[in-house]
Amino acid sequence: MVTLEQMTTKEEQIICDMCKKEIPKQLPNSCTPGYAFIGEDKKICHACCGEMDKKTMEEHDRIALYLVKKDGKSFITNWPGTLSIRVSHIREGRHNIAGKRVTVWFTDHRNEQWYGINYGDHTQICHCRKMKGRKE
Ligand SMILES: [Zn+2]
Repeated sequence: MVTLEQMTTKEEQIICDMCKKEIPKQLPNSCTPGYAFIGEDKKICHACCGEMDKKTMEEHDRIALYLVKKDGKSFITNWPGTLSIRVSHIREGRHNIAGKRVTVWFTDHRNEQWYGINYGDHTQICHCRKMKGRKE
């Protein structure tokens, strides 16, 4: 016999479409959901989100990530923070339209060299591309 309470709990369960593990609906002490949407209605957990972002980097040589500062150091991360790469070099410049242009360089999980560009002061989005063997 299934009680109403059990049914409600079951309904609220979210299963990751990639690893099939149960995802907490909300992270403790935060209003961030414990999952990300991919495609139309697929949900994946934060860990898989990091794996997927790595795969995107391997397959497409370009990805949009976030440029964040922590303890005075700069990192390239995905939104749940399950992918986090220390920036090895950073250069700030001016941009006609956005005002500020920040270029960063970093090394990915396969030891490939990447650079990323972030425009303006109002967004952390960093457009990253793999460097094709050459040094800039
Ligand atoms: Zn997962």
